[in-house]
Amino acid sequence: MVSNSPNLVLARQLDSSDELSSFRDKFHIPQHNGSDCLYFTGNSLGLQPRSASDALKTELDDWAIHGVEGHFKARNPWMHYHELFSTHLSKLAGTLPSEVVAMNALTVNLHLLLVSFYRPKGNRKKILCEAKAFPSDRYALLSQIDFHDGNPDLDLIELEPREGEHCLRLEDIEKAIFDIGEELATVMIGGVNYYTGQLHDLKSITSAAHKVGATCGFDLAHGMGNVPFELHNWNVDFACWCSYKYMNSGPGAVSGIYVHERHHNSGIPRLEGWWGHEKSSRFKMDPNYVSMGTAESWQMSNAPVLNMAVHKASLEIFEEAGGINKLRERSLRLTAFLEKIVREVAYSTDVNLEIITPSSPEKRGAQLSIIAHGQGRDLYDRLSSQGVVVDWREPDVIRMAPVPLYNSFEDIARFGIILEEALINPRT
Ligand SMILES: *Cc1c(COP(=O)(O)O)cnc(C)c1O
Repeated sequence: MVSNSPNLVLARQLDSSDELSSFRDKFHIPQHNGSDCLYFTGNSLGLQPRSASDALKTELDDWAIHGVEGHFKARNPWMHYHELFSTHLSKLAGTLPSEVVAMNALTVNLHLLLVSFYRPKGNRKKILCEAKAFPSDRYALLSQIDFHDGNPDLDLIELEPREGEHCLRLEDIEKAIFDIGEELATVMIGGVNYYTGQLHDLKSITSAAHKVGATCGFDLAHGMGNVPFELHNWNVDFACWCSYKYMNSGPGAVSGIYVHERHHNSGIPRLEGWWGHEKSSRFKMDPNYVSMGTAESWQMSNAPVLNMAVHKASLEIFEEAGGINKLRERSLRLTAFLEKIVREVAYSTDVNLEIITPSSPEKRGAQLSIIAHGQGRDLYDRLSSQGVVVDWREPDVIRMAPVPLYNSFEDIARFGIILEEALINPRT
């Protein structure tokens, strides 16, 4: 490896002059041959915060000490555990604390929200989503249509990018919304596309959906903890996310939902359980349901505390770092640096490395998706053998995310050197 390459020198300077660089030390970095992996798959599974095991141990110890009494006597009383991070979540989502709650898993929550917000009636039955949506979302949408006795072939409209393009244009999304018009029941799009990394204009999409009388929600699995949102001010009706990608809360960790406050007491139907009941009288065990009157009305079950302990520890790191806007600023610089490195390697090796993620920073988060034209899976294998962890999609797409909490400029420069070697000398 060329240890004094100009990009490596530059990267080290950028790292040493950035006050957020030290946050990397708060995470366990997976190892390869005794040194840190170049881990670029935080968009799939975020790394483990070093504080996670203590956070978990706190709850295990309190359970050992208090048994059921831990609901009140634990250091973080379990009874109201989910409330401990409503404010943290609301800052990431740009909402009121009463508009968010952590619960369940993502696809489950998408269904629960669609129960409330997809209410096909008369000719208004259609759902608009993006073509090649994350498969789980597509299955959820199709099964909801089926559940309402609709026709999945007709009622799910999957918007394709223009010929020769990879991302959707806002004007085309708006046009589709206006074209479907009164037949459109709900718009449900991945706020940041998992494949291309495209960040959509949620405000404009919501506004267009509302103009034709449709509800509008987003799956923010690839958005929360990656880019800042203002869901409340943008009037978004509903959203859900998972916490194991950019929120680093561990495999399968708890999901979260957002419901705009105008819907909290509007009488829209939802599936209910005891943890959505008004909390002051919840334990009177009254047979009649009285709603919490907040997003918590959608919460059915008591909180999975062990799972949420890591979520809590993880969200505290976002607070310590000064919040999502500050991280976004670093993220923009990291992603721009990665883009520069990929373009340089493409030039020096004469390999067509096509970045399909939008090039304008306001239309993307931390991820770049790169088509390595003419390369195959052996490129991925060569990168892996050098400790590079990226996501490979057949036949030739590399997805990678420089995550501002723990990836460094040096990670990116080193990746560039390894990528260049792998392309120049395929047999090493
Ligand atoms: C990661 C992801 C999922 C995963 O769903 P789970 O219910 O958490 O297994 C679903 N949808 C999108 C858009 C995702 O990015």
